[in-house]
Amino acid sequence: MNLILLGPPGAGKGTQAQLLQDRRGLVQLSTGDMLRAAVKAGTPVGRAADAVMKRGELVSDEIVVGIISERIDQPDCARGFILDGFPRTLAQAEALDRMLAEKKMKLDAVIEMKVDDAALVERITGRFTCGTCGAGYHDRFKPTKQPGICDNCGGREFVRRADDKAETVKSRLAAYHGQTAPLLPYYQARGRLRQVDGMADMAEVTRQIEAVLDTV
Ligand code: ADP
Ligand code: ADP
Ligand code: ZN
Repeated sequence: MNLILLGPPGAGKGTQAQLLQDRRGLVQLSTGDMLRAAVKAGTPVGRAADAVMKRGELVSDEIVVGIISERIDQPDCARGFILDGFPRTLAQAEALDRMLAEKKMKLDAVIEMKVDDAALVERITGRFTCGTCGAGYHDRFKPTKQPGICDNCGGREFVRRADDKAETVKSRLAAYHGQTAPLLPYYQARGRLRQVDGMADMAEVTRQIEAVLDTV
């Protein structure tokens, strides 16, 4: 099964994609994670993306389409994948359609996670992850069970993203409303769009996504 999780920054795409990866054996493909890895490694892609990401703007379609196209060719993706953070523009959606057609793959569902802008700011500014295993947390909504210790791996180092600041969140939300929201009618017209209530708690969002997947 091949899915897209579509929603604004902080909607919970990464959280739910990780759960789906564990529960259904689907591969999580996060362009944000891939770009951050490229920045950290100092590759040419990373050098081109770094400043753009810090401003909260979108990296070029050419770069992200190139990254996804290479990744989808890897054998593990044949089991099914969840796109998290891609596509984000109409040009990316069209490139994805062409890519899937060429590889004789199909898209089973596009799941929109709806969350109000006001809630997103709090979600993003409270977000942190384990520096060892990557598990995701939130200061208020998902703290570690023991202060300072990762529930998953016992790690004690945590990281916050450079772009998870209140000032940058504004440009990221503007990019979502201006460039990504037009994908909703695009997938609606193709009969692929489904919606879940991203404002609900994490377990309820998972239930709603599972209910959608049971029908595809
Ligand atoms: P995205 O990948 O869409 O940017 P994340 O999955 O990273 O979003 O979630 C953003 C933050 O909000 C994280 O700190 C996460 O723990 C928290 N979060 C995710 N889903 C919910 C939810 N349903 N309710 C409250 N907080 C949530
Ligand atoms: P979030 O879900 O919180 O917005 P991501 O990790 O998906 O965060 O993306 C972080 C940043 O990486 C974006 O603000 C953008 O600069 C860049 N990025 C990620 N995916 C894409 C994409 N598909 N197209 C363009 N830029 C992207
Ligand atoms: Zn950990």
